[in-house]
Amino acid sequence: MLSKIKKCPLCKSRKYEFFSKLKKNLYSEILSKIVKIEEEKLLNKIENKICKNCGLVFKNYWFNDETLEKIYKIHIPIHPRGRDFKSKLFSKSGFKREYQDLLKAKKNNNIELFQKHSRTIKSIIFSIPKYKKLKSTKWITKKLSRSFDPILNLELLKRNFSDILKLIDKPEEFKRFSGYESYSLWTNLLSKVKVKTYGEIGCPRWGLLEIAKKDKKKIVFIEKNEKNFWGAKCIFGNKSCILLKEEKVSFKKIKFEENCSEKIDLVGIFQYLDHVRNPLQFLNKIIKISKNQAFIVDKFKDFDNTVYIQHFTGWSKKSFSWVAKKFKKKLINNFDKFKKTENQLFLIV
Ligand SMILES: [Zn+2]
Repeated sequence: MLSKIKKCPLCKSRKYEFFSKLKKNLYSEILSKIVKIEEEKLLNKIENKICKNCGLVFKNYWFNDETLEKIYKIHIPIHPRGRDFKSKLFSKSGFKREYQDLLKAKKNNNIELFQKHSRTIKSIIFSIPKYKKLKSTKWITKKLSRSFDPILNLELLKRNFSDILKLIDKPEEFKRFSGYESYSLWTNLLSKVKVKTYGEIGCPRWGLLEIAKKDKKKIVFIEKNEKNFWGAKCIFGNKSCILLKEEKVSFKKIKFEENCSEKIDLVGIFQYLDHVRNPLQFLNKIIKISKNQAFIVDKFKDFDNTVYIQHFTGWSKKSFSWVAKKFKKKLINNFDKFKKTENQLFLIV
């Protein structure tokens, strides 16, 4: 179920060292059940390594396709952040409901449910603009806590609940409830590259496809056969997430694995690369079918240095510099609006 990774999945170097331990989250709970290894043991067996050559952080063991397929087909078929994008969960009533469910789980001593609601409550609070500076919310960031770990101080939550409720209005950009559908991001990209055709790969719901269409660009969606979300089981109501978006904005669909005649000026690859099993092969192909690539990746180094269990790799400026050099391209990495978020933008041109 797990294979040992003996060389860096990007530059293929065998020179790497220990980087960090893993931490618990929803995926470690589920994966431990699938592979039938106690969660603690699993979190001790899998470690983050860092490549001394290209700086990529990667797991020393990784799940085979069969195991990954089980997660994405059976256990978590719907992409949580895709589902939450523009959802009503970020609302006064959504927050109230989560809080009540959290108290109920606490009362019933249901640890899994308690952790689930803790995470949701945290991501709601993390989406309140300037939450780090507000009296009723700033306590949440102590101990470098992140939106997807379950660490939550229930007493402080209780004490501040009614004040937090008053703060819930519009979610902050680039967080769980607002995704990447952002004019400031789009304008920033257009200031750096010329775009006639814009493409995207990964979650079809939360990116720039609609904005690009409104801006009279030709849009394409790239489907890749990989064990991940956005498969046939990523369904909202009775339609797949891809079909739903297609009905809304109508785009051309192309298959990553097939030869394609479409020349894409810019492709958005948002929170996707860290799921890919063979990033070098992926980059080879995506750079062939598109002129420029915009990557959004998790900024783990500014937080707790943990690349969580669901992500095979962790990306930094050093790794993207390696990519730019390898493909004889330029790297741009200066999107100010991402400075205080969990995201980083890397543009390969
Ligand atoms: Zn490497």
